[in-house]
Amino acid sequence: MARVAITGGAGFIGSHLCQSFLERGHEVLCIDNLLTGSRENVAAFLSHDRFSFLDHDVSRFIQVDGAVDMLLHFASPASPVDYLELPIPTLKVGSLGTHNALGLAKAKKAIFFLASTSEVYGDPLVKPQTEDYWGNVNPVGPRGVYDEAKRFAEAMTMAYHRYHGLNTRIVRIFNTYGPRMRMKDGRVVPNFITQAMKGEALTVYGKGTQTRSFLYIDDLIRGIHRLLETDYHLPVNLGNPHEITVLDFAKKVLGLTGSKSSIVYKPLPEDDPQVRQPDISRARELLGWEPQVQLEEGLAKTVHYFSQRLRG
Ligand code: UDP
Repeated sequence: MARVAITGGAGFIGSHLCQSFLERGHEVLCIDNLLTGSRENVAAFLSHDRFSFLDHDVSRFIQVDGAVDMLLHFASPASPVDYLELPIPTLKVGSLGTHNALGLAKAKKAIFFLASTSEVYGDPLVKPQTEDYWGNVNPVGPRGVYDEAKRFAEAMTMAYHRYHGLNTRIVRIFNTYGPRMRMKDGRVVPNFITQAMKGEALTVYGKGTQTRSFLYIDDLIRGIHRLLETDYHLPVNLGNPHEITVLDFAKKVLGLTGSKSSIVYKPLPEDDPQVRQPDISRARELLGWEPQVQLEEGLAKTVHYFSQRLRG
């Protein structure tokens, strides 16, 4: 049994990680300041004797007593709407928070696992994106606060690995969806599903020709555990290579929910990436990993989750 600390453990991905480590028999320390995460996401684990919760902003020094064998740094606003509203906390958690988390991992001789993002590729000029692509990021644009913070976090993680010999991993997470996403976090999956269920028009930004590829949360969690089992320190993309335009995605949501909602077009947010599609060759070779959950299946589970929340 290992003791695992998860920053951002009360967030969407973080809470699924907490659950997966508990299910594997480990002890979990969830660290979260609940800025975008919620107590509700971890409510089911609070009574678990191997689970504990620390309400703390990791941009400030992190005090943890006792051993830590693995530290997974997942704290950050992650929806464009959130990080546009919270630009400075986003920059701080990616920079100061990563530094503090790395310092804690070093002090505890823990494995350090960084949640990075496809946003490090910015509005990419190559498709699909391999890990060797250095990206096309506007540092002073509105999304720069997230993109640059995560790029800094990767650089800092590699520096701790090279200079201090810290045992590190970096995952670049592409659009992931599933239960426990915040209904109002502004991302396309919760927006379209809740709009469809309420009979409101689906808000397609721009012409809807921009592409994304959607990974179901269970596939991501499986990939993260596989990566932890390796000793590979360079970044690894985890995402679904199946690309879809935002407009086609809206139609898919309408079809799946049987909704009669219409589609309205809204302005495209500044620096919204036009394409995004992971090259997952590295994950395939290194981890023997690829997505297993089809979009229809994952969306059905997500629709079920949101419909319960809307009713509840
Ligand atoms: N989008 C949209 N309507 C919405 C929310 C998002 O058309 O109500 C688009 C957005 O412009 C982007 C894509 O959907 O092109 C994915 O947006 P999201 O906020 O989920 O995250 P991103 O992939 O941009 O980080």
